[in-house]
Amino acid sequence: MLLSGGLDSTVCLAIAVRDSPAVTTVTVDYGQRHRRELEAARRVAAGLGAEQLVVNLDLSAWGGSALTDDAIAVPNHTAAPSYAASGAIPTTYVPARNLIFCALACGIAESRDCDSVYLGVNALDYSGYPDCRPEFIAAFQEAAALGLKRGVEGRPLDFRTPLIRHTKAQIVGLGVELGAPLELTWSCYRGEMEPCGSCDACALRAKGFSEAGVTDPALR
Ligand SMILES: [Zn+2]
Repeated sequence: MLLSGGLDSTVCLAIAVRDSPAVTTVTVDYGQRHRRELEAARRVAAGLGAEQLVVNLDLSAWGGSALTDDAIAVPNHTAAPSYAASGAIPTTYVPARNLIFCALACGIAESRDCDSVYLGVNALDYSGYPDCRPEFIAAFQEAAALGLKRGVEGRPLDFRTPLIRHTKAQIVGLGVELGAPLELTWSCYRGEMEPCGSCDACALRAKGFSEAGVTDPALR
């Protein structure tokens, strides 16, 4: 299970822990702007009783994203038409991030003989990243079946994306229902003392809690 320490991956981990006898979380220290989400991931994994691996893979070596390059500012959320509709992908997109992370998860899953890879990706209330879409996940699963030993042996890895078509409000509701430690999560793209409230991640999170009628426990 790829765990970032944000809302979606935390709720997805609660599902994985419910459904599977043993879960290993993988958190990537990829040179992101701040350490807050890495700390959140550590607490979330511990809170849900899952093993945590932290992998250092520095995507800031080449940058190209507001999340991995200090020279590119994190944009404020705008009430523009949905990214999916406009086709505009914001500068917080990290080049090939999920392509790389999925490959990493495959390596760890295969070495540990895990049957499934859980991903908290969402393609509804999201920032329009192409590597969060169902068609990407389906294609990657196919590539993994062809490229992994267990795939050619007839035991392909099962990619599970239980939140991919959920609204943010549904994700919040599911998190509350499953007792996910939402109070430990960190979504903000900026790593200040408190969430900034104005970036895309903060805006989507606030919308989700508001529509679910739940007070965000991380803001108390
Ligand atoms: Zn923010």
